[in-house]
Amino acid sequence: MHIKAPIVSKPVGASEIPEGGFGWNLDHRGTDGPILCEFCGTNHPERLDQSYTLGTVLGLQVVEECCGKVIDILYKELAEDFTQAYLEEFARNPTNPRFFFFLDKLSKVLEVAAKKVNETSAAISSSKESLSKIKNV
Ligand SMILES: [Zn+2]
Repeated sequence: MHIKAPIVSKPVGASEIPEGGFGWNLDHRGTDGPILCEFCGTNHPERLDQSYTLGTVLGLQVVEECCGKVIDILYKELAEDFTQAYLEEFARNPTNPRFFFFLDKLSKVLEVAAKKVNETSAAISSSKESLSKIKNV
């Protein structure tokens, strides 16, 4: 798939850098001259102090400082749908090597989630106990 025209007519905005650095921009690279944001059609003049950060979205070259925010928007709108679709794909073929890193992450995430559930459950039990003591006074 390659989209020829800009998707929006003006810059969307800078991306929010997630905790731990650049999460989405796997082909993160810099520039050494003027650069076109293909997502909105903005021509950026050469920066002398630092380069722009580029990525690719829907086959278009995106300047992160210009339209990187589109990733934040797509994530906010579609993360749950993508996650569900990915989990269903995983469930159909869990031994596929492409899920190797996912499996590792999944077990760590579930461990953290289970710990939080236990902590919450303990806090609720403790609150119930406190409440019953108040009632008995
Ligand atoms: Zn742009």
